[in-house]
Amino acid sequence: MTAIRYELIKTCKQTGARLGRVHTPHGSFDTPAFMPVGTLATVKTMSPEDLKEMGAGIILSNTYHLWLRPGHEIIKEAGGLHKFMNWDRAILTDSGGFQVFSLSEFRKIEEEGVHFRNHMSGEKLFLSPEKAMEIQNALGSDIMMAFDECPPYPATFDYMKKSVERTSRWAERCLNAHARPEDQGLFGIVQGGEYEELRKQSARDLTSLDFPGYAIGGLSVGEPKDIMNRMLEYTTPLLPPNKPRYLMGVGSPDSLIDGSIRGIDMFDCVLPTRIARNGTLMTSTGRLVVKNAQFTRDFGPIDENCDCYTCRNYSRAYIRHLIKCDETFGIRLTSYHNLYFLLRLMEKVRQAIMEDRLGDFREEFFERYGFNKPNAKNF
Ligand SMILES: [Zn+2]
Repeated sequence: MTAIRYELIKTCKQTGARLGRVHTPHGSFDTPAFMPVGTLATVKTMSPEDLKEMGAGIILSNTYHLWLRPGHEIIKEAGGLHKFMNWDRAILTDSGGFQVFSLSEFRKIEEEGVHFRNHMSGEKLFLSPEKAMEIQNALGSDIMMAFDECPPYPATFDYMKKSVERTSRWAERCLNAHARPEDQGLFGIVQGGEYEELRKQSARDLTSLDFPGYAIGGLSVGEPKDIMNRMLEYTTPLLPPNKPRYLMGVGSPDSLIDGSIRGIDMFDCVLPTRIARNGTLMTSTGRLVVKNAQFTRDFGPIDENCDCYTCRNYSRAYIRHLIKCDETFGIRLTSYHNLYFLLRLMEKVRQAIMEDRLGDFREEFFERYGFNKPNAKNF
């Protein structure tokens, strides 16, 4: 019996997007779904009650960061990550690989694993498939990720081929080291960069290992959006239809819609909370930078079409003032709105799939949001 089960409810006749549900040991969530990111066992400035109120069914936490602080042993002692942070819905943890490759210095990749230095203290550390499983088993997340290498863009074909083959060997080691398969589901990660042949090889290697779900990694790492969409169109049909598909690190509104159209079920990104901290907001008519002088005396809400806690109670002028003064409450208000906006967007995407009109929804959304304009300001 696997810990994670995917239920396909309906495929959109207009686009092929999938409406589904993922069942986990900590409840089910509807897909396509956006997962707010709680790097250090907290979605910055949001309480678990806030996240429930806005309808989040799953959040993501980062293995690398929790391994360094407070340490996975302490979280295990607390009874696992759910108890430690008082979140009783689903949690996905990444493998730590991405942070090792993006944050740390002096890293050295070997067949056994990766040697690197702690990005804060400089201490020498080693992360391997077995260690990534040990940490995630201690955290007790519902969905764990296999330890992979995510090479930066662009990478040569030869490098990418070696990397994909190593990632496949590491995936098998992760499966063998996973100690709690009955209550934690382990997802494999398809790599291969912009090379179709390598995506195919990676998908073939990983699907032969029969993971309960698959992620598509190595996208949204600096490549143009058309390459990302082309790789998704190529890769998703190679994955089993009865398992969830997760596109890692993607969270701009246009990419969430375009990813859903290409058969993706799960997304995560720090984007909504990161841009919220400097006062950039996602609204139904596009991007809004609340620090701009034009909002000094604007006593209307961030988004007239939004019924979130922030928009029901606070004005652009007030939020502008708070953000300009670096007040935590301002960050809390903008973070709340952006997360609510993306969670509502995914709800609308699911509704549109249900009604076989996701293609029309995309057109309307892109038009209103301004994505169709030349030189449209993106996130
Ligand atoms: Zn709002």
